Amino acid sequence: MIQRLAILGVGLIGGSVALALKQAGAVRQVVGYGRQRANLQTALERGVLDTVADSPEAAVQDADRVLIAVPVGAMAATFARIAPHLAADARVFDVGSTKRDVIAAARAGLAGRIDRFVPAHPIAGAESSGAGAARADLFSGREVILTPLPENIPADVAAIAELWRACGARVSAMDAAEHDRVFAAVSHLPHLAAFALVDELAGRGEATTFFRHAGSGFRDFTRIAASSPAMWRDIALANRDALLVELDAYLDRLADYRAALQAGDGERLMQSFQRASEARNGWSPEINPTGNES
Ligand code: NAD
Repeated sequence: MIQRLAILGVGLIGGSVALALKQAGAVRQVVGYGRQRANLQTALERGVLDTVADSPEAAVQDADRVLIAVPVGAMAATFARIAPHLAADARVFDVGSTKRDVIAAARAGLAGRIDRFVPAHPIAGAESSGAGAARADLFSGREVILTPLPENIPADVAAIAELWRACGARVSAMDAAEHDRVFAAVSHLPHLAAFALVDELAGRGEATTFFRHAGSGFRDFTRIAASSPAMWRDIALANRDALLVELDAYLDRLADYRAALQAGDGERLMQSFQRASEARNGWSPEINPTGNES
């Protein structure tokens, strides 16, 4: 059993890990550190946390598991602050949506203790944020991708995998660069496209008319544009090289559609729509059912 879990960044994901481990009876005590007092108070009231620490340094004191669940842009500073204060038996893990930048931040911050860090990305989430949105079943049946480091010892990777299984997740492993390339295409680009469409429409004088008449197609395409702006700014910047490649491919395809429309070339549109429709019908969302993909 985990004796003391320290959570840095007590939001939707960090809070849900706490609730899931508590429900599984896999943790004795959870201590949290965050920047917003009201959010930490909510976490205490909802039983997400048992105690609140005044600093990251105090939070990790005597903790055998340390979860970094801040937005990816805040991870470097967090690793650097906690490194000198980690307990001898502490194992550190994260939930960041991008992996190469988080691993680089951990290498810089944790330095000689990098072997203690087992990176992870849970493929689960929601548009809502903060401790108030945390749920014990958020990871139930969902995939958690580990991107282990060459420095990790197998027993530590196994311990973190076991922790995620206790949260109800299915655990898989992937190379960090491959992870970032794949998620640029299937998660980061769709978020960019949704933010762009909603922002463009919202900026028009007659936006209310458009939104009033928008139906289920608009709802489904733009659901993820309600996600946390700061979190997605961090993800886009952290994975910008892979995201630029995917954005260019998407813009090329849109430019092709534009040319076909201008030429009235229905056959060209039909061929692409047909391929897309078949591919989409052949894809089963059951692989990673509902919720966010960040
Ligand atoms: P959230 O906004 O609900 O929680 C983040 C928390 O971190 C907030 O309480 C915020 O106040 C706190 N925080 C921010 N900067 C901090 C700092 N410097 N020190 C301490 N606390 C700080 O966000 P979330 O959805 O829980 O996301 C957390 C992490 O999980 C991110 O790295 C994100 O990439 C990743 N993630 C999110 C999702 C999702 O769908 N929401 C899915 C998978 C992974």
